[in-house]
Amino acid sequence: MSKIVVIGGGTMGAGIAFVAAAAGFDVDLVEPDFAAQERAKKRIAKDAERASAPDAPARVQYYSQLQPGEALAAIEAVPERLELKREIFAQMVKAFDANTLLATNTSSLAVSDIADGLPNPERVLGLHFFNPPAAMKLVEIVQGEQTAQEAIERAREVVLRLGKTPVLAADTPGFIVNRIARPYYLQAMRAYQAGIAPIEDLDRLARGAGFRMGPFELMDLIGMDVNLATTQSVYERTDEDRFEPVAVQQEMVAQGRLGRKSGAGFYDYARGVVPHDDGVPQPAAEVNRDERVVIIGFAGLAQEMFERLQRAYADVQLWEDEDTIGEIPDDATIVFDVGDGASDRGAVVEALDARLAPEAVIFVDAYASDLRTMAKRLAHPERIVGYGILSALEHQRVVEIVDADETSDDALEVAQDLFESIGCGVVLVEDAAGLFLGRTIGSIVNEAVYAVQEEIASPQDIDLAMCLGTNYPRGPIAWGQEIGGDRVRRILTRLAAEDGAAFAPSRALWVLDVQPGDDQQQNDNLADVKLGW
Ligand code: NAD
Repeated sequence: MSKIVVIGGGTMGAGIAFVAAAAGFDVDLVEPDFAAQERAKKRIAKDAERASAPDAPARVQYYSQLQPGEALAAIEAVPERLELKREIFAQMVKAFDANTLLATNTSSLAVSDIADGLPNPERVLGLHFFNPPAAMKLVEIVQGEQTAQEAIERAREVVLRLGKTPVLAADTPGFIVNRIARPYYLQAMRAYQAGIAPIEDLDRLARGAGFRMGPFELMDLIGMDVNLATTQSVYERTDEDRFEPVAVQQEMVAQGRLGRKSGAGFYDYARGVVPHDDGVPQPAAEVNRDERVVIIGFAGLAQEMFERLQRAYADVQLWEDEDTIGEIPDDATIVFDVGDGASDRGAVVEALDARLAPEAVIFVDAYASDLRTMAKRLAHPERIVGYGILSALEHQRVVEIVDADETSDDALEVAQDLFESIGCGVVLVEDAAGLFLGRTIGSIVNEAVYAVQEEIASPQDIDLAMCLGTNYPRGPIAWGQEIGGDRVRRILTRLAAEDGAAFAPSRALWVLDVQPGDDQQQNDNLADVKLGW
């Protein structure tokens, strides 16, 4: 059997029909609207041209009604209305025998609701393609309450034969990708509402951390209305405060500021899409001989800073033993404190403040430390620079620096020079728990850990899905392991204290710190996390 039937020939249906035809299947495309059928033909011809698959269009037959017969799978891609989908499935059950897989491409409805009451519901499942299907590699296979394991295995084979990468998701709101991606948008908008920095700067920070597009330019591309509808659907179905829509987006949708398609969203498109300049500074050509630099910390970022700063500054020391901070040269002019990433550095900074000359600048990890409380206890709070580096500079081209009320312009200038001298861009942000990257990336990691804990998908499938479905530079579980569960917890605990319990860290974050080496054990631990409570 080498036939695939696609029902609905719109954006997704036409794309899926092309994918199946290009993979060598015969395709029946069912589309009752004549104009839509003509559009589908054009789309398929265009996809075939782009993919150099000239034979694909001839494999697609067009029908205005479902034709009974044999098929490997029938994939429904009609508009997102439960009653309509149920009606289509009732027809599908009649048209095909019990061996045909019956799949829905729904993004926001429950597969189980669509399957409810049908004969042989064990062969009904979700095959969630991403837009545009020809280009997007990922397909989420959604297992409804009644879907048989055998149907899942067959669906996996079909997806592989289509040249796509399958991941398995539970029948939960947003499945994997649309759920775990929510914090990227929601936390970014909350950061914007809190006035952390202008959108251009926040997008630049996100791109600097490896995202292909910043959250604001991406929302403008997706369409503010489409993005809000997904959030609303996930929020309404989960009733989790974490997914609550943000006022700024609701207002923009009400005003018709929908993004690129309406000419304006977060950005204005009157003159088209303005290209951004993401160039990072060239590392300093001349070695700085004026400063005496001490880095406090052990391995990881401390080592990386040490190596980079040695190329830019003549006098750099790595101070690995925190117990001897009282012996740090008191003529140091720059002290870069890395710390353990998970605890407040107030006491260490207080000791440094007492020891160093007032002109010396002290860099503090702003994700872990509460700068405002710290500043109150210091004789010279003006020399404190809060910085945000999540894990390694290797993965972060732009560093966020806190523009705190107390911090002097001179200290900020030293910070700018220091990072630029090692080839990093700098963005100034207001002081707020998690700053921008800690808040957004920390929340994505948190959501991914919740998803494992709630058995929505395996850690491996989550990482695969987010890399392929949203182009994330790293899967959120791997990213969380790199940042460290303790550090993510620290960031989110501070965020929750400031912004509300909805951002509370998952109790399962500790799993990210289970030592690798035994990958299987780590994954077992992640998968077993639910057993902890
Ligand atoms: P669309 O509006 O572009 O296409 C739907 C098509 O279904 C239309 O051409 C319409 O004429 C046709 N249709 C209506 N009633 C029909 C019937 N009784 N039988 C056959 N065809 C019928 O919508 P879309 O964007 O392609 O979305 C389709 C499905 O895919 C929805 O469930 C949506 O949630 C899901 N989805 C959409 C995207 C996306 O980005 N657009 C991504 C993933 C999943």
